Amino acid sequence: MTKKINIAIDGHSSCGKGTLAKYLADQFEYCFIDTGAMYRAVTYAIHQENIDLKDRDAIKTLLHTQNISIEVVENTHQLNIEYKGVNINEAIRMPAISNQVSQVSEIDIVRSYLVEIQQEMALKKGVVMDGRDIGTHVIPDAELKIFMTADAKIRAQRRFDELQKKDVNITYDQVLENIVFRDKTDSTREINPLIQATDAKILDNSELKLEEQNYIAKQWVLEKLSQ
Ligand code: C5P
Repeated sequence: MTKKINIAIDGHSSCGKGTLAKYLADQFEYCFIDTGAMYRAVTYAIHQENIDLKDRDAIKTLLHTQNISIEVVENTHQLNIEYKGVNINEAIRMPAISNQVSQVSEIDIVRSYLVEIQQEMALKKGVVMDGRDIGTHVIPDAELKIFMTADAKIRAQRRFDELQKKDVNITYDQVLENIVFRDKTDSTREINPLIQATDAKILDNSELKLEEQNYIAKQWVLEKLSQ
């Protein structure tokens, strides 16, 4: 049987973790698991139900109603996320959710609920999982760990361009503010903050073209597969 490894990609907000994870998953026919989408899905549900973030009982109930469905689609090897049977893959990317998601991801019961799902998905190997605590907490035994970063202003410009294409009404300054806020909240929270795993390879893509970044990461995977 072909050797399969797990790949953990962590890093700052909007630095292209998802794009790289998807590329590597396509190249090696691995599953692409976007854990940020899971935190966004819970945030979406909390938002829909108007739940106060301090109301732990309501959040517990929400998580156990099974209205949030997170599954890997067999033929695409990617996540499909639904709330009450409705696909929310696009809705979870909207600014209202981005603005609240870091506060939601600080809540311990939300983290333990989602980490369990993530660890279960990684058991069979052959996953590329991106997030903030993947290499340090979710799959600390991942064979390859990548820590991605880029200058905050470059990240904001890239994200702003993407949102413009989707006709989302937002300014560059608002995007930058959200990115800086999320970086700070994610890196300073008490439970499983965003920190670089000591054995992670750093990929700063501020000055890299997409093809260059992809090439570097693919070589890292090939190296691990040949060991
Ligand atoms: O990756 P993305 O920007 O979509 O993630 C949204 C938010 O979810 C992050 O800002 C972070 O607060 C949270 N998150 C997290 N742990 C992960 C993945 C995402 O706390 N493993």
